[in-house]
Amino acid sequence: MASSLIDRPAGRSGLAAAPATLERWLTGPRFGPLPSRSVREPPPLLSFEFFPPKSEALETQLWTCIRRLEPLAPRFVSVTYGAGGSTQERTHATVLRIVRETSLVPAAHLTCVGASSAGIEAIARRYWEAGVRHIVALRGDPPPGTPYVPHREGCAHAADLVALLSKIADFDISVAAYPETHPEASSPGADLDNLKRKLDAGASRAITQYFFDTAVYLRFLDRCLAAGITAPIVPGIMPVSNFAQAVRFSALCGASVPGWLGELFEGTENDPETRRMVAAVVAAEQVRLLQANGVDEFHFYTLNRPDLTYAIAHILGVRPRVAADIG
Ligand SMILES: Cc1cc2nc3c(=O)[nH]c(=O)nc-3n(C[C@H](O)[C@H](O)[C@H](O)COP(=O)(O)OP(=O)(O)OC[C@H]3O[C@@H](n4cnc5c(N)ncnc54)[C@H](O)[C@@H]3O)c2cc1C
Repeated sequence: MASSLIDRPAGRSGLAAAPATLERWLTGPRFGPLPSRSVREPPPLLSFEFFPPKSEALETQLWTCIRRLEPLAPRFVSVTYGAGGSTQERTHATVLRIVRETSLVPAAHLTCVGASSAGIEAIARRYWEAGVRHIVALRGDPPPGTPYVPHREGCAHAADLVALLSKIADFDISVAAYPETHPEASSPGADLDNLKRKLDAGASRAITQYFFDTAVYLRFLDRCLAAGITAPIVPGIMPVSNFAQAVRFSALCGASVPGWLGELFEGTENDPETRRMVAAVVAAEQVRLLQANGVDEFHFYTLNRPDLTYAIAHILGVRPRVAADIG
């Protein structure tokens, strides 16, 4: 570009005769760099989400992931609960192994689907006795292809579960929030009222569904504040390494996939190395934009793969701690 600018005469009237590239350069928008933070500033708070493995190979993958991310000293790590409560035992076993074998603080996901209040109480007490103090309380999704039907003797909504858990013990409770509105909500306002109910019932923070358009999350924060919600609304970050899979997930959970994201991944279907680099740039740009907007807590959907999360945490200024620091 520089040589074409030098080679072409600007003419007597300057800009009027300048080539389009020069005019754009001289008069078009300028973007300043995103502010960088020094690693001497306090790093953001991170949490990592894992899913419980259903085979020995996946178990090995999960534990490689946990060991890789452990030195980053996240505030907590959470373990999901399969649709319809299908992973109850595996979630429990994973959470307990985290308690026994790591320095990490675990958070167990717990859902209402298919569970009576007495059943939920039994699970919650088991966690409390094992030293687990943090629960991510969710309504949960029914098995694929079936509508959600509350258990006759259970909790209909996540807010009811939060209230139940608060009565059982002094749990730290996180709940879900939806910057693009939960797909079953009657309106964005009704969904926001529901989030407020969950926090009023005893939750101390919300973790959002993932989103790709940063402005969507920032506007959601504005709406939360306007609704009187002051608890932390931690952005859920999904580093996308498999675009086709992300499109499928997003259709199910109501997260929109912007056209530019598809265009960035176009042509990388058979090129995993380029795909990973694109994925790292997309996620890094997202977290840096959020950080520049004052966000200092992040929740990563790791999908039990550590590398992207580790690299993005590094970009955010998080450095591994040695064992003595963590202990
Ligand atoms: C961070 C995070 C972690 C997740 N982890 C899991 C997991 O481990 N396992 C799993 O199965 N799913 C998980 N999910 C998905 C979640 O379970 C689904 O999105 C589920 O459909 C809604 O759960 P919720 O807790 O948000 O439900 P709720 O807060 O109960 O809301 C569900 C819907 O009901 C509406 N609603 C709530 N109360 C009322 C009321 N009184 N009257 C009318 N409408 C009402 C809400 O607006 C919303 O549309 C997770 C989601 C997030 C964001």
